[in-house]
Amino acid sequence: MKYEAVIGLEIHVQIKTASKMFTAAPVGFGEEPNTLTDPVVLALPGVLPVMNKKAIDQIIKSGLLLGCDIAPVCKWDRKNYFYPDNPKNYQISQYDRPICVGGKVEIEMPGPSRNVMGDHHFVELTRIHLEEDVGKLNHFDNDSLVDYNRAGTPLMEIVTEPVMHSPEEAFAFLTALKQAMIYAGISDCDMEKGQLRCDANISIRPAGETKLGVKVELKNLNSITGVRNGIEFEINRQIRAVEKGESLVQETRRWNAEQGITTPMRSKEMAHDYRYFPDPDLMPVEVDEDWKARLRAELPELPFEKQRRYFEQFDLPYTLTSVLVPDRKLSAYFEEAVAAHPDKPQAVANWIANDLLRELSTAGRSITDSPIAPSQIAGLVKLVDGGTISNNIAKEVFIHMFQTGKDPEVIVEEKGLKQSTDTGELETWADEAIANNPASVEAWLGGKETAVNFLKGQVMKASKGKANPQIVDKILKEKLGALR
Ligand code: ADP
Ligand code: MG
Repeated sequence: MKYEAVIGLEIHVQIKTASKMFTAAPVGFGEEPNTLTDPVVLALPGVLPVMNKKAIDQIIKSGLLLGCDIAPVCKWDRKNYFYPDNPKNYQISQYDRPICVGGKVEIEMPGPSRNVMGDHHFVELTRIHLEEDVGKLNHFDNDSLVDYNRAGTPLMEIVTEPVMHSPEEAFAFLTALKQAMIYAGISDCDMEKGQLRCDANISIRPAGETKLGVKVELKNLNSITGVRNGIEFEINRQIRAVEKGESLVQETRRWNAEQGITTPMRSKEMAHDYRYFPDPDLMPVEVDEDWKARLRAELPELPFEKQRRYFEQFDLPYTLTSVLVPDRKLSAYFEEAVAAHPDKPQAVANWIANDLLRELSTAGRSITDSPIAPSQIAGLVKLVDGGTISNNIAKEVFIHMFQTGKDPEVIVEEKGLKQSTDTGELETWADEAIANNPASVEAWLGGKETAVNFLKGQVMKASKGKANPQIVDKILKEKLGALR
């Protein structure tokens, strides 16, 4: 029997804000435990929550970016449970009236090779709601300690429909979602810092069946490879169980990355009943058209849209777009360079994607502190285009630009690197090359066209690389022709 896997993801994304969701205590990571707290975070008696407007702006932006409907009115609910990660004994969340409804994320499946674009499709979202993050328990041999620094950090929960069918698709979804969030400045989505966390719901069904199977919720997928490996293991575990005649139970399982297996955490019978009810301390939020319009104006072009524009506008190949587009700052750098020299976008892109990125990575620098400005890249390409320097010399000039930050024109001038188009000089070198290499001349006269390349090499050498290769070629062929 053939099986189809069905996957739905629940993703938590921390929103990048200065202060917490319902109080002014600062947001941070890696600080001394319990220093990012205040009476609201610690739920001391008598405190009241106050909404963080910036966090609400950011979730509305996320919703607009991903094509969700923004609810005209949404409200806050208490999710009640008893556990030391939250001193209130409830988490403020949104239950039946989330702020964003529906939506979709465009994803790219892996192509046949890294240089070939894969198929694109959309993964539908169910909803996105806003809540507060909770504290963290640190377990030791004999006791556990609680750190409330993370408690109260604004957190979005993004829920997909059960529409994905492979670990690769889940991986592609997470990649695209992460990129969109980073692009829009909503979150840095650093999984190692817990800024993006993912639970996967997984079931299998016989191929062709449309009813959903019994789902398992998989937790502790704390890296992007963990998501892929955990889902893959769980799909195979379910198939093996069914083939052995066992019946699957709805349960929550935990991914154990060290052993590469999933183990049971709790069954459906042990599932929590959170007794959700509306939070009486907070007003519902009304989002009007003006508010949405203001945020819509701040939305960036999504990465895949930008990639399509680069195909059309600049005729860039996929390999270049897939280097430039994922990094918003890098693509901005590219566009600034192209604007300064619009004739050769491919050449400009090549210098940036290959030479500049290579040098930046060797120097341990990022594009934002590149010693070469976009206009200087454009200047370099212009010098090659105009025949002032050859491509080889340009490589040399580029290294000097990177080391000194000087303009390419200045370097060419200072180092005397201008391509020689002085035909008198070139003719002398050509005569010498012909006189000193009778075998090549013989071969050329005998019909071996490529024999001219050796002679050309001699002239280039004599000129220290500064001769214009096209002109050398022309002069040599004229001289050789005259020997016929
Ligand atoms: P719950 O009631 O357990 O919260 P939901 O129906 O709200 O379940 O769905 C939670 C997540 O599980 C969503 O991402 C959804 O797409 C996914 N999901 C629901 N049913 C299945 C299933 N049978 N197989 C795989 N994923 C599922
Ligand atoms: Mg649910």
